[in-house]
Amino acid sequence: MKIVVFLKQVPHSDARLDVNGDETWIKEDGIKFEINSYDTYALEEALRIKDAGEAEVIVVSIGPARVTQALRTALGMGADRAVHIKGSEVDGSDSLGIAKTLAAVVKAESPDLVFAGLMSDDGNFSTVPPMVAELCDMPSATSCLKIEASNGSVTVERELEGGAREVVELPKPCLLAVQTGLNQVRYASLKGIMAAKKKPMDEKTAADLGVSGQVGAGAAKMTIEKIYLPPRGEGAEILSGSTDEMVSALVGKIKEQGLL
Ligand SMILES: Cc1cc2nc3c(=O)[nH]c(=O)nc-3n(C[C@H](O)[C@H](O)[C@H](O)COP(=O)(O)OP(=O)(O)OC[C@H]3O[C@@H](n4cnc5c(N)ncnc54)[C@H](O)[C@@H]3O)c2cc1C
Repeated sequence: MKIVVFLKQVPHSDARLDVNGDETWIKEDGIKFEINSYDTYALEEALRIKDAGEAEVIVVSIGPARVTQALRTALGMGADRAVHIKGSEVDGSDSLGIAKTLAAVVKAESPDLVFAGLMSDDGNFSTVPPMVAELCDMPSATSCLKIEASNGSVTVERELEGGAREVVELPKPCLLAVQTGLNQVRYASLKGIMAAKKKPMDEKTAADLGVSGQVGAGAAKMTIEKIYLPPRGEGAEILSGSTDEMVSALVGKIKEQGLL
């Protein structure tokens, strides 16, 4: 079995984020990056399938040179090889550009399963995985919380609104975008990190993948106009006293504002 896992590298959850000069992205200088949290669960799920039988796990990421760190971490956790897509031709891609680039890798690899995160911790679009599935003519499921792969198909438990669940069955090959919390993500062991140094990491450009001109800033149909932090409010008031006193003070304030 061959499994492709998409990994996006995103700013570390502890990083202090400042908007850049032209207000279209954040200042990336000097901040730490990590693998998108949703993608760590996707990778873990792929590695569990590998641990349970025969599988080759290929991790794929689009991004600048720093992305190799995320791919090396994934190789240290147990992935077999990595594909790093970079270059000015893919820079500034919108979601469709990212999806077209990843779809080109999927078509070249012909995997049985494709794993992705439900969304990215920074962009939050949640659009890339379903678009890749569409471009590759594959069935897909999002918000996957439990995945059981058998020979010809995959049974997936999906999370719906209000905690409800849905069970769906998809034929392979298919794409699964996973929700967080579906497993316990492993750490890369020292042995794994050492072994990762010898694992293959292919570097590809848009031209190598046959998507030149279809991706990147020039092809983006959506542009980021402005990124900004919400304006600071007037300040919060902390109520004090016993629970009863705080509740009645709160109710009073809500009534004062005509909200009750
Ligand atoms: C400098 C810069 C310029 C940008 N310019 C534009 C622009 O002009 N127009 C615009 O619309 N957007 C732009 N973007 C945003 C960028 O294109 C988004 O990352 C893209 O739209 C995908 O959205 P998302 O990251 O929210 O992915 P989601 O759809 O939320 O991601 C879901 C999953 O898809 C996979 N995935 C997503 N991205 C990658 C990746 N890079 N590599 C591997 N797997 C991935 C991961 O598994 C992820 O969990 C820019 C971003 C940067 C950093």
